[in-house]
Amino acid sequence: MNARGSLLLIFVLLCGLPAVPQTFTAQCLFVIDGDTMEVSKDGGRIRIRLEGIDCPEKEEPFAQEAKAFATRMAAGKTVTVIEKEQDPYGRTVARVYLDDGRDLSVELLKAGLARYYGRFNSDWLLARLEQDAKEAGVGMWGAPGTSSGSAENRSIVYHGNTGSRVFHAPSCPDYNCKRCTRVFQSRAEAVAAGFRPCGRCRP
Ligand SMILES: [Zn+2]
Repeated sequence: MNARGSLLLIFVLLCGLPAVPQTFTAQCLFVIDGDTMEVSKDGGRIRIRLEGIDCPEKEEPFAQEAKAFATRMAAGKTVTVIEKEQDPYGRTVARVYLDDGRDLSVELLKAGLARYYGRFNSDWLLARLEQDAKEAGVGMWGAPGTSSGSAENRSIVYHGNTGSRVFHAPSCPDYNCKRCTRVFQSRAEAVAAGFRPCGRCRP
């Protein structure tokens, strides 16, 4: 710790202030389920519960998809953790940012693989993202029976990037990219329109 850091620490201790939520970089070791992961920091392991969202529990539909999505995004990578609080189970409730700056809570909501969870957070943006995902029928919101407007045999809707002419499946981190405005009801439709499948999500 440098001199300024030491002074700040002494100041905080003297004032008796509660610990300031920390921001730190860590290595994501593995994802336990969509909203829980273990990271390594200073040789130790910390269990992180993502703030603001709730992914389907094991046994529930889309639990595996949520886990696979979070694993693809974060596992084995360096992440930035912004602590919010400790939950009653001793987990650190935090927002996790990927190395490209994306917020994992936001990405899970956009993919329809998480619900907005207001207990730790009153972020209107997250609530809005959940609503958008429901309206778009992506992820769990497209499953029969979970959305009032969805057809019984709803097919997967693909998004095509009008710039690169690449199309993505709903599970892709790039599904709702800025230029992903073309909508295809089937893979064949996308290919016929001259779009090629994304190498990442392999639609
Ligand atoms: Zn993709």
